[in-house]
Amino acid sequence: MILYRLCCAKEHEFESWFRDSTAYDDQRARGLVTCPVCGSLEVEKALMAPALGRAARKFAAEAPVEPAETPEASAAPSPAVQPVALMSEKEQQLRAMLRAVRAHVVANSVDVGDEFATRARRMHEGEEEKRAIRGEATPDEVRALIEDEIEVLPIPVLPDERN
Ligand SMILES: [Zn+2]
Repeated sequence: MILYRLCCAKEHEFESWFRDSTAYDDQRARGLVTCPVCGSLEVEKALMAPALGRAARKFAAEAPVEPAETPEASAAPSPAVQPVALMSEKEQQLRAMLRAVRAHVVANSVDVGDEFATRARRMHEGEEEKRAIRGEATPDEVRALIEDEIEVLPIPVLPDERN
């Protein structure tokens, strides 16, 4: 005698004894092997390892659905999530760099406030000893300094430090 684990087209699993494998084939060919749940004649031998059989059949049953779902499922999270992660990492590096530049400028220059343009021009014309200064200048003042070939650099301002 041989015990077969069987499965119908509707995935009802059941077990049935047969004299041998030939008897199974014979009875199935004559429509004697039916699903005890739904009476279906579309009965196949399930894989003998129950766990494997279940997983394999589950996979097979879901396979037609997966190609339709996978492009959508993988297209939605990965491109949407990845650029954000890259941008935030890039932005963090940029912010760290700007913060370092800013800290360096602040540590190595004298704050002259709104006298910046005047002092810079005086240094440029030799009326005052040259040194690193920082301060505020209007866009017009900056443009005038640059036109006179006085090198000025904007101090990087981080978005969350602007006030
Ligand atoms: Zn059935």
